[in-house]
Amino acid sequence: MLTNSRDRAWVEIQADALLRNASVLQQVVGPGSELIPMVKANAYGLGLSATVRTLEAINPWGFGVATLSEGLELRRLGVTCPILVVSPLPPASTELAVEAGLQLGISNPESLRLVTSAAERVGRAADIHIEIDTGIGRAGFNWKDAGSWKRYLDDAIKLGVRWAGSYTHLHSADEGHDTVLEQWTRFQEALRQLDVPDNMLVHVVNSAGALRLPELAASAIRTGIFLYGGSAGVGLPDPEPVVSVRARVVHMRQAHAGDTVGYGATYRAESNEHWASLGIGYGDGIPRLLGNRGSILIHGCRAPIIGRISMDVTVVNISEIPNVSLGDIATLIGSDKDEQITVDEIAEQADTIGYEILTGLSPRLPRIWKGLDGQ
Ligand SMILES: *Cc1c(COP(=O)(O)O)cnc(C)c1O
Repeated sequence: MLTNSRDRAWVEIQADALLRNASVLQQVVGPGSELIPMVKANAYGLGLSATVRTLEAINPWGFGVATLSEGLELRRLGVTCPILVVSPLPPASTELAVEAGLQLGISNPESLRLVTSAAERVGRAADIHIEIDTGIGRAGFNWKDAGSWKRYLDDAIKLGVRWAGSYTHLHSADEGHDTVLEQWTRFQEALRQLDVPDNMLVHVVNSAGALRLPELAASAIRTGIFLYGGSAGVGLPDPEPVVSVRARVVHMRQAHAGDTVGYGATYRAESNEHWASLGIGYGDGIPRLLGNRGSILIHGCRAPIIGRISMDVTVVNISEIPNVSLGDIATLIGSDKDEQITVDEIAEQADTIGYEILTGLSPRLPRIWKGLDGQ
């Protein structure tokens, strides 16, 4: 393990838990569907390089990203398997993406033309996946008139573009079956209009979709949040926690009735209290909304966050917890003895979702991987 005794705060990542979550998903959908781990946004905040190195052990079909630079970074890291850019790219990114051999999700005829001409200029084939909009509304060809844009696709293919896959994206799989089935039906209708060959790579479900309706897993599943230990939705199986966030006690004080803490002095001691300042704040990605609302773990006990969280420091009330010393480790996300704070608990307190908590963990926090080769 890397030494971190000098760090004031850090993110700990459990590589073996990440792999176990991946194998749970694989078991749920069965051997007929491949995994496309989504590693966009720095692998949901875990760190791109170590995440990819860990997940390569399960031989995924490829990796999913959202941007050109994420795809290029994967190539720089030596990834040779397919890299799929699922989000639409700005026109000026197309050529570099084709040059790097990234597979591109395509959502409109204009992008098809851009890929085609980029492939000609660069002198290499371009692999595309046709995205079909069955309700997400942010990207994809409209499912209703798939037939009417088939000719653009045929033209592109004549000019050397390879049609490598077709997909759609679910908008509410975390909430229930009904919309998933409706989107599936729309998607099938579009595939029919497009005459998609039976052996084409087809991918529809995200983590929530795979867990809720594994029979829709098709050739591959695009999964993120469950791998990284975030809940995919209420009522769905919980993943094993993967990410912990820890911070050290960097200051302690005895507070007396009337003493205040933090910007705005929003917390006031009612009697004698014992406060500890942790070396972590919203500049590290801890939501400011947790001020006077959230809690942390220290010595296996919960301590409430008091006052507003500032950029670099969070203060907690440790009056109930004996023997806390400078340098002791507090847990903002993760386990400490028998107590646990999940990503989703924090997300709920901060009025958001686990995805935003994970992707918001700032680069200021070192990522310490446990159970990875060589550490
Ligand atoms: C991010 C993303 C996913 C992964 O979703 P999870 O809910 O994290 O499993 C799948 N497909 C697309 C198009 C995405 O953008």
